[in-house]
Amino acid sequence: MKDQKLREKIGTEIINTCIKMKELDLNQGTAGNISHRVEGGMLITPSGMPYHIMQPKDIVFISNAGEIEEGRIPSSEWRFHLSILNEKPECNAVVHNHAPYATMVSILGEDFLPAIHYMIAIAGGNTVPCAEYATYGTQELCDNIAKVMTNHKACILKNHGLVTTDATLEKALVIAEEIELVCRLYMGVKAVGKYTILPDEEIDIVLKKFGNYGLNVKHNS
Ligand SMILES: [Zn+2]
Repeated sequence: MKDQKLREKIGTEIINTCIKMKELDLNQGTAGNISHRVEGGMLITPSGMPYHIMQPKDIVFISNAGEIEEGRIPSSEWRFHLSILNEKPECNAVVHNHAPYATMVSILGEDFLPAIHYMIAIAGGNTVPCAEYATYGTQELCDNIAKVMTNHKACILKNHGLVTTDATLEKALVIAEEIELVCRLYMGVKAVGKYTILPDEEIDIVLKKFGNYGLNVKHNS
């Protein structure tokens, strides 16, 4: 990546998002990883490095073809970050973590998180799909995510955790925070054993409202 100033700016944003993710209790230790699209590839957090000592120079560049620059080892999950960015041109940021409630839902073995709360629509649909389990860091895991995430900005990885994506790091993190809340509610009502699911038509209305909300935010800023 040639533009060093831009690299430092995006690197700083990635580190700040990691710290915020930890403050929101969405992650434990260094298990989470975050990436952002740049010209010709992406920048991603390094493997196994605590966020509070991370510097922009530690953030690793990987080309669109999957070539890793010399230096630090990238997060072991770089493959699915790159495949999500390659498959979703409208998205520039990917956030992955082992948020406790999303991870609990991932262990239930269900195919999706249902619309028990309208905030599920923040991830772009009336469910959040669960991708089949595969060993972390493998192409198989990328393929399993790609199969179900096509029309969604979030995906639960079975027996693993959560991944979200959006146009900016801030938005991808907000989706992770909101989906973690829906997962928390779901685990609660599951324990009680009784709950209701919002109809698809209602989620369609919410999706339209969210679209307008997004436009208003953009307009005001
Ligand atoms: Zn993970």
